Amino acid sequence: MTTFKTTLPDSLVLPQRINRLAELSYNLWWVWNPTAQRLFNKIDSNLWERVNHNPFLFLRQIPNSVLTHYSQDGQYLALYDQVFQLFDQYLNNKNSWFAENYPKEGGTIAYFSMEFGLHETLPIYSGGLGVLSGDHLKEASDMGLPLVGVGLLYTEGYFSQRISEDGWQESINNPIEFNNLPLNIVRHPDGSELYIEVEFPDGTVKARIWELRVGRTPLFLLDTNIESNNPQIRQLTTRLYWSDINLRVMQEVLLGVGGVRALRALGYKPTAWHMNEGHAAFMTVERARELVATGVPFEAAMEQCKASNIFTTHTPVPAGNDEFPLWLVDKYLSTYWPQLNISRDTFIDLAKHHANWGESFSMPVLALRYSEGRNAVSELHGSVSRKMWNNIWPDRDVHNVPITHVTNGVHTGTWLARRLGNLYSKYFGANWQDHIDDPEMWVKIKDIPNNELWAVRNHLKRKMTLYFQERVRQRWIKGGYHPVQVIASGALLDPYVLTIGFARRFATYKRASLVMDDFDRLLSIINQPNRPVQIIFSGKAHPADEPGKLLIQEVYRAVKKAENGGRIVFLEDYDMNVARYLVQGVDIWMNTPKRPNEASGTSGMKAAANGALNFSVLDGWWREAYNGENGWAIGPDSEVPDAVQDHTDVESLYNTLEKEIIPLYYENRDTDDVPNPWVTRVKASLSTVTPQFSMRRMLKEYTAKLYIPAMK
Ligand SMILES: *Cc1c(COP(=O)(O)O)cnc(C)c1O
Repeated sequence: MTTFKTTLPDSLVLPQRINRLAELSYNLWWVWNPTAQRLFNKIDSNLWERVNHNPFLFLRQIPNSVLTHYSQDGQYLALYDQVFQLFDQYLNNKNSWFAENYPKEGGTIAYFSMEFGLHETLPIYSGGLGVLSGDHLKEASDMGLPLVGVGLLYTEGYFSQRISEDGWQESINNPIEFNNLPLNIVRHPDGSELYIEVEFPDGTVKARIWELRVGRTPLFLLDTNIESNNPQIRQLTTRLYWSDINLRVMQEVLLGVGGVRALRALGYKPTAWHMNEGHAAFMTVERARELVATGVPFEAAMEQCKASNIFTTHTPVPAGNDEFPLWLVDKYLSTYWPQLNISRDTFIDLAKHHANWGESFSMPVLALRYSEGRNAVSELHGSVSRKMWNNIWPDRDVHNVPITHVTNGVHTGTWLARRLGNLYSKYFGANWQDHIDDPEMWVKIKDIPNNELWAVRNHLKRKMTLYFQERVRQRWIKGGYHPVQVIASGALLDPYVLTIGFARRFATYKRASLVMDDFDRLLSIINQPNRPVQIIFSGKAHPADEPGKLLIQEVYRAVKKAENGGRIVFLEDYDMNVARYLVQGVDIWMNTPKRPNEASGTSGMKAAANGALNFSVLDGWWREAYNGENGWAIGPDSEVPDAVQDHTDVESLYNTLEKEIIPLYYENRDTDDVPNPWVTRVKASLSTVTPQFSMRRMLKEYTAKLYIPAMK
């Protein structure tokens, strides 16, 4: 089986001296290495932005004469050699964290997820779940975990968002140009494509396998757009999260069943099988089917596989869980149960759940029952999950429901601004990234002079402001924009104003409009003379989520009001690129979920790592991180009755803004204009949040609590 290419598609030839740029383009390692990115943006930083940080498009559009020039430029070549020395060292490192800590552990961890958020050029994610999966793969690579990712490759990916003048979300679906992405088709030695097959009642479906290299971690993605499949099946992997439940159940069969078959076709023998959310739960039965085929009875086969299965739940509300009506299971899985040697009823019983709408086949129930490792994604979410799934273990009291928690983290390298990284290198030592999760190292934060840290923060806010203004300008030039939309999209953003970011999926429980509950009071807060505040919103709603789209409209209509003077804005088309600018540039990261609906949340961790302060409801991760000195809380640390939660939270929000946040930011400036008490708080946040909510800490916990027991 071969996949690796080191030359670019369409016979694009690079000058010999710099031809390894092709190799670099085919490995996402550069995504979290700012020095490697400079190999592109040093040549033409404007073009690098225009091609949305896509090395393939970039190299294709740079005139050959320019590449030839750089292939002879001493300074460029020094950088080039430095980057490839790092790259080679990274790929060949035998002393990874895993190798040093678990030298005897063989085997492979298979990691299944419906979405992976790795970079803005690969829109195969919709939000936090996908970004978490992407960060998981990157950190697994950094730590040398023997992990392999499995997912689907969507030919159109997740949609791009446009907001109409009236605030209505429009979705734009364009085919992704696979040729311009670091994707390689897995082929037989004779060059033909390797296919796996999954049987459905209407016939057998073929899928090809694509490989993506995430540093040292391979990610395999399935795609059914193959000529020999019927036209409906060719559409199966067009989009992420179809609203049509027929397509959804088929996609989940493809992921769970097809994913196992793909790993087998590639020669993998995983010893731990991790399902990130319930979408992949059919994996449990496919593994049992393999054993049934060798003569093991079904029940015994399920039990045997259970010991090496791991399931992570992310959904604290019953309605949010993935379940299918039984007729749908009959329709798509009836060919399957004979292969398991069981009846229809036995199959249905694996995942029976009594939902509001009658009996259903619940993917999380299947996964929870047949995984020995089970975890929620924050402490509070752990206790909510134990309560929610107590009915699976009716003999146990709620505290003994066997679901543990591992709180989420973020891949620091992906989200950290280059200038802050430089500051850490200067004060913590060049290899500070190896100790990212060590609170001891972060004690040294006090060595960084306030004015140096503040200068970087100001730089990042300016950079963000200018970037968003330029983005609006380009959109306006392109046409179809009313001038009020230009203002609404950030044309009047001011780099010297206290800036609050609110960006995430527009799901109603996240209460994006909470801050506007008393709009006149909000206006009086943001329009104070000499101490203004600006708020930046961004986020998509799922195209089938009408309440989510109405919420965007409500926010957008408020954003367009002249009274706010362009200080409340909505940025279209939230993605990892917009997220990176926001988490690096804003002063305050605000999150207002209805507690306890936010399983974890991760964007606030990204913001904290860049020196923004969190100002959020004590739900999910923030409840664990907040210590009174490293940010601010909205509302109390307790459950408030539904009827009054909005009111309690919004009062707390306005009061804290007025009495604490705004004065701390604008007052107490020293002669160099540095707000020292604010910077003290930033340092408290950096040193407590960054280590604890890093993906490094998270993967160490997964390894010790879940992976190693499964592998044994
Ligand atoms: C981090 C991230 C998320 C997750 O945001 P939360 O609201 O904190 O869960 C969603 N979308 C994108 C693009 C992200 O980068």
